[in-house]
Amino acid sequence: DSSSGSSGFFSKRTFPGRVPAGIGRKSLRIVVTGGAGFVGSHLVDKLISRGDEVIVIDNFFTGRKENLVHLFGNPRFELIRHDVVEPILLEVDQIYHLACPASPVHYKYNPTNVMGTLNMLGLAKRVGARFLLTSTSEVYGDPLEHPQKETYWGNVNPIGERSCYDEGKRTAETLTMDYHRGADVEVRIARIFNTYGPRMCLDDGRVVGNFVAQVIRKQPMTVYGDGKQTRSFQYVSDLVDGLVALMEGEHVGPFNLGNPGEFTMLELAEVVKETIDSSATIGFKPNTADDPHKRKPDISKAKELLNWEPRISLREGLPLMVNDFRNRILNGDEGKGL
Ligand code: NAD
Ligand code: UDP
Ligand code: UDP
Repeated sequence: DSSSGSSGFFSKRTFPGRVPAGIGRKSLRIVVTGGAGFVGSHLVDKLISRGDEVIVIDNFFTGRKENLVHLFGNPRFELIRHDVVEPILLEVDQIYHLACPASPVHYKYNPTNVMGTLNMLGLAKRVGARFLLTSTSEVYGDPLEHPQKETYWGNVNPIGERSCYDEGKRTAETLTMDYHRGADVEVRIARIFNTYGPRMCLDDGRVVGNFVAQVIRKQPMTVYGDGKQTRSFQYVSDLVDGLVALMEGEHVGPFNLGNPGEFTMLELAEVVKETIDSSATIGFKPNTADDPHKRKPDISKAKELLNWEPRISLREGLPLMVNDFRNRILNGDEGKGL
């Protein structure tokens, strides 16, 4: 058992007969939906290494078995191929609900945000599990407030191309709060800002993955529009620490989880160039409809109530994903861009 038991977490609702994970802390059984994806697989690694039992539910829409293959054979790990749009029966202590087609090329394809979230809330209600929703900064739409605080209600187009993602997550937040107020389900809501790192989907249209893959392939980085729009990029291990702190804390949220370091797309291209190849070039392309002009989290609430803040800057984090991308591109994993 690799758990140190030092995370300070203690649950009263652990099922009987579970093997202790460390002094003062029982091992938990935890579901991670979307656990074969980018963020999910890093979260699963953390939960397994501290001594918990993890069940991943994933339909491999964008996730990959390769992200979890190092855990196959571990008796505390289980992988179920299942679409969360369909009901499922399990007995668990906690549910991290990440399953969602999360990038522009994928998210128009199914109703996971509504039906999947409903089923996982139904499961949480039936077994008395604590439920954590991974919502998104996209609930703020093209924000009229900058930086964005959790109190901002957002500026979202209800009928645009991105709507099934941002409105889908807004509905998921509503369902989560309804189950909390109406059925006493213990819930947590994270609003995640742009995140990058190893195991990111290749070619799924997200900007950091696109630029890194393009430079490795000696192609120009595709900057959309004038490249002056901004985003704030968070390294994946910081996000995973934030998700666990939120699940284990006493506060429902919502909490912004992101790195406040703000960059234009032109600045991002410059950092990628400095990190990987000083001969890299840029090619401009038209921007997509409804692209938010700027985005930056106000994280004072998470700092104060979760005692969390990101530690890894863009310049420190980018080099940590380059080897993973190089290996996958060399091995012909061209991702699952549709
Ligand atoms: P990802 O695409 O790598 O992971 C999503 C996982 O969900 C994949 O493994 C996919 O196969 C699985 N999935 C999709 N639909 C499913 C279904 N119907 N049933 C079962 N599994 C299904 O994306 P990610 O970046 O790891 O995102 C994880 C979560 O974090 C998502 O909910 C996303 O909306 C949220 N989020 C991510 C970011 C980011 O920058 N990465 C930003 C904001 C929010
Ligand atoms: N659900 C599930 N697993 C469970 C319990 C419920 O998948 O262990 C699904 C159930 O099929 C339903 C949804 O979650 O579609 C909401 O369940 P809830 O009990 O809240 O609603 P109801 O079935 O009463 O409409
Ligand atoms: N973008 C870009 N080149 C790309 C992909 C994206 O310039 O190859 C821009 C996109 O227009 C947006 C920003 O990068 O302004 C972030 O896009 P992404 O899809 O990564 O995240 P989101 O828009 O969901 O924040």
